[in-house]
Amino acid sequence: MAAAGEGGAGAAASDIPSLDRLLKDPSFGGLAARHGTSRVTDALRARLDELRGAARAGTLRRDALEPAALAAGLGRTLDEASRPRLRTVFNLTGTVLHTNLGRALLPDEAVQSVLRAMTAPVALEFDLERGGRGDRDELVEGLLCELTGAEAATVVNNNAAAVLLMLNALANRREVIVSRGELVEIGGAFRIPDIMSRAGAKLVEVGTTNRTHPADYANAIGPRTAMLMKVHCSNYAITGFTRSVDSVQVAGIAHAHGLPLAVDLGSGSLVDPARWGLPHEPTVRETLAAGADLVAFSGDKLLGGPQAGLLVGRADLIAKIRKNPLKRALRVGKLTLAALEPVLALYRTPEFLPERLVTLRLMLRPQAAIHGQAQRLLAPVQRALGDAWAVAIAPMSSQIGSGAMPVEALPSAGLALRFAGRGSRGRALEGLAKALRDLPRPVIGRIADDALWLDLRCLEEADEAVFASQLEELRA
Ligand SMILES: *Cc1c(COP(=O)(O)O)cnc(C)c1O
Repeated sequence: MAAAGEGGAGAAASDIPSLDRLLKDPSFGGLAARHGTSRVTDALRARLDELRGAARAGTLRRDALEPAALAAGLGRTLDEASRPRLRTVFNLTGTVLHTNLGRALLPDEAVQSVLRAMTAPVALEFDLERGGRGDRDELVEGLLCELTGAEAATVVNNNAAAVLLMLNALANRREVIVSRGELVEIGGAFRIPDIMSRAGAKLVEVGTTNRTHPADYANAIGPRTAMLMKVHCSNYAITGFTRSVDSVQVAGIAHAHGLPLAVDLGSGSLVDPARWGLPHEPTVRETLAAGADLVAFSGDKLLGGPQAGLLVGRADLIAKIRKNPLKRALRVGKLTLAALEPVLALYRTPEFLPERLVTLRLMLRPQAAIHGQAQRLLAPVQRALGDAWAVAIAPMSSQIGSGAMPVEALPSAGLALRFAGRGSRGRALEGLAKALRDLPRPVIGRIADDALWLDLRCLEEADEAVFASQLEELRA
């Protein structure tokens, strides 16, 4: 009944070595050192059960019982199971601030600061001057005020949390007036109307999708109005016959009625990117100067820092927000603050930003440099893919992403991979995309118009060798 394989005669259950004997075999010593005796024992027990099943089915080969072969197979299984789920990838999607790939990359100053905060006690809520309890907000409040002109500032987990907290603290059971043209949904289920109702505030929509006039705001103000709010149209643009009321006008209307104006600025830059030839984005300082009483923005979009929600503005409003119990529930951890402080500090010297703020450095990479990189990688990629694929250098358009400047593109370059073999092109492209994702450091591209596009904007030259060296594995 025993089936003989090519590499060995058929084996019976009685040929299977015992668990104890195998664990004493030198082949298993290295495994135990790497994965611990208990995990190796459990995995081996499960493997021996499988082998007994194979013996009953008559498919067990004698060479599968060699201790070295068993140890090697078990090692692969355990290594695979121990691999972190949060994998480092190559972002060749062309979107610099890709939410699904973790948005901003931290500058070295921030990385070092996070390392220190992870490995030694830090004065997180400890006032070193007086020796008593401090407030974690104070670590970055001074910097935020200096950089934006605000009177006060507070930090929470992300911008969605900042908006939720601000609405709950200042407009619970009251009304908030927002233009219909600004009732946006941001990727990942952030919708202003939903956040508003969860915060306990009643949304009062004014105007129409494409046109809102100053009188629309003024006419909607009543005894239950808590504030007026503007939302930056992050991920879309309304063009054509449109009219929106700018912050200066809305602030004027709000203040004439003794009400505050809150602005959800989304990406919220601290320096106008136009300074470096990128499209203009309203800065937090400009928005406050235009009359906003509170501005909420993200830490990991254009700002280029860790995930965080920053709230800056009038001291009395920030004080009220700090007292709200949600603030405690939404507060940031020490690692966030450790990363945020040095990123904000970089903004004191904007001339350092293009080199040191990684996100900005990627946005500013010149097309010619990216094109040169495409030229260097063309042959290695073509060689790795073989004749079934045609690899070509192509101009591309990168996006900043995360809602900043949704309709503007950054001229870029990369490789377009087209299937030149027989069979379904769609299936071949999906297969190649999967093979790229299966590499030791997965490569994430973009399939469109019958090609797989690898935009090289976010492949910094320091990483190019790693990218090229793992291409070998595609051939297998
Ligand atoms: C991105 C964005 C948010 C959500 O910010 P997170 O930091 O992702 O929570 C909210 N409002 C606007 C306008 C945005 O662009």
